Amino acid sequence: MSRREELAERLGHVQSKISRSDVTLIVVTKTYPASDVQILHELGVRNFGENRSEEGAEKSAIVGATWHFQGGIQSRKLRDIALWADVIHSLDNSGHISKLESATQKSMDVFLQLSLDGDPSRGGVIESELAVLADQVLATANLKLLGLMCVPPVDADPRKAFIEISQIHRRFISRYPGASSLSAGMSGDYEIAMDCGATHIRVGSSILGPRAPHE
Ligand SMILES: *Cc1c(COP(=O)(O)O)cnc(C)c1O
Repeated sequence: MSRREELAERLGHVQSKISRSDVTLIVVTKTYPASDVQILHELGVRNFGENRSEEGAEKSAIVGATWHFQGGIQSRKLRDIALWADVIHSLDNSGHISKLESATQKSMDVFLQLSLDGDPSRGGVIESELAVLADQVLATANLKLLGLMCVPPVDADPRKAFIEISQIHRRFISRYPGASSLSAGMSGDYEIAMDCGATHIRVGSSILGPRAPHE
């Protein structure tokens, strides 16, 4: 089977599981070559995600699409990320919001990253800390608040976690009605996430195959 056939088959499988028309599939191409991104683009994919600025810059220069950044943010990389990313999913820090506002004139879509358990190594803030960040984003001229992103804790039961995420998101929308998007679900759990209201799923290895374990 050629790489193109393999990607087409796996992409088709994931697409066949998407039952709602408001779900955006972001194909996470981190660690995979730009040639895979090109094939996926030819197969119709228009949303790609990366976790590292260098990789995103390189691939987005080759393939025109909507580019998403969902990795942990290093402050000194924000200006570079803003050069190529259209959407940032992993904002969780007031200093980063200020920096992003001043780093770029272009308008950018952002998600705030929620953490269910407050584990600092996984990124995100707990529910009670969201409003301060959301107010800060709304006060900027160039950042548009799309909604919340969340990765459930490693040992959590995924369905319970996504139900909790969706309840937090509903409370968040009641205060920030424009923030109606929910970025949740990866290869192992995107179907459950969609059941629980995810509007953006970020799927890598189910489409591209297993990657090196450190990613
Ligand atoms: C790598 C990554 C993904 C995609 O993960 P897969 O398990 O390969 O689908 C999604 N979201 C984030 C935040 C990631 O780091």
